[in-house]
Amino acid sequence: MLATYDVDRDRLAALLAGEPRYRVEQVWKGLWERGERPSAMTDLPKALRAQLEEALPPALQEVARSTSADRRTTKWLWQLQDGARVESVLMHYRERSTVCISSQAGCAMGCRFCATGQMGFVRQLSAGEIVEQVVAARREALPRRLGNVVFMGMGEPLANYDRVWAAIVLLQRELGISARHMTVSTVGVVPGIRRLAHEPLPVNLAISLHAARDSLRDRLVPLNRRYPLSTLMSACYEYLAAKNRRLSFEWALIDQVNDTPRDAAELAELALPLGAHVNLIPLNPTPGYPGQGTPPAGVADFQAQLAARGVNATVRANRGTDINAACGQLAVRSGPTGQGTRVPN
Ligand code: SAH
Ligand code: SF4
Repeated sequence: MLATYDVDRDRLAALLAGEPRYRVEQVWKGLWERGERPSAMTDLPKALRAQLEEALPPALQEVARSTSADRRTTKWLWQLQDGARVESVLMHYRERSTVCISSQAGCAMGCRFCATGQMGFVRQLSAGEIVEQVVAARREALPRRLGNVVFMGMGEPLANYDRVWAAIVLLQRELGISARHMTVSTVGVVPGIRRLAHEPLPVNLAISLHAARDSLRDRLVPLNRRYPLSTLMSACYEYLAAKNRRLSFEWALIDQVNDTPRDAAELAELALPLGAHVNLIPLNPTPGYPGQGTPPAGVADFQAQLAARGVNATVRANRGTDINAACGQLAVRSGPTGQGTRVPN
């Protein structure tokens, strides 16, 4: 079945054969500029609305939605047409809103501490399924402007490269969200980083590092065995040389695992020469991993150690923990497709 935002202008024109030519632009604007379903397009004849509603089914059905106690974070659980489920999270800040979207149902990368990794891989999302999450969030954010899109929901975006890239192009061209306000977060899929370095649009790149020596990273992030730190860092240099965009390292601080002075020193050694900005976030506990987040004093201490070595680090707020919407907590607990499969390490 087609999903609305997987339909390009030519296909839309084919669907509208027999209608006046201007209908194509009219419907296109309704879908993209106003984010409307065909059934809500009051500028179309009623019969056409019904016909389009059937021909262009939505990719996402809202199964559940939760809003945090402070109302600044909303999480959706969506069901896709085949029953697979994904989540996205909308966060409001003073000036703008940011949506954190999924690029895959589940994830095959198997990072120990991540709830999505714990559920395994279900399937790739299409570009239209990715885009529709942004369309929904933009509508919900009103009257605030949805300014930023981050690929930090479920899945590894660079393991679904072509569809993620197609989505980025559409978001910029049709929704007017500049690539500079989009961030792709990767656990370290090196061929994908290299491809991204040579794309024409300047998206931001975040590397989920979490450990700066191979022996530890091999355990936390199984993909490190395939692309060890030296390989990953050369890809980062390539990205910087080609793009000159700020690179960031994500670091989930796990109590007594990766928050020691040795870790700070090793992290600084990788971050400094790249000029990378470090985002620290205390680990959000998940059911499948025994580690705990570093307590606040330890987080401040780790940040101070980085600062003393000349590395800029920001402590990221733990948004949405009360609705299980925080980083790494996205996992679909039940659904017709059941659990995914984890690729054996
Ligand atoms: N697969 C991509 C993007 C999705 S994960 C990636 O790994 O980068 C988004 C971010 O959440 C990543 O930085 C990831 O490492 C982090 N994360 C995963 N589990 C977490 C947890 N339990 N607590 C805090 N951050 C977590
Ligand atoms: Fe996948 Fe990212 Fe979770 Fe690792 S941290 S399992 S790559 S979603």
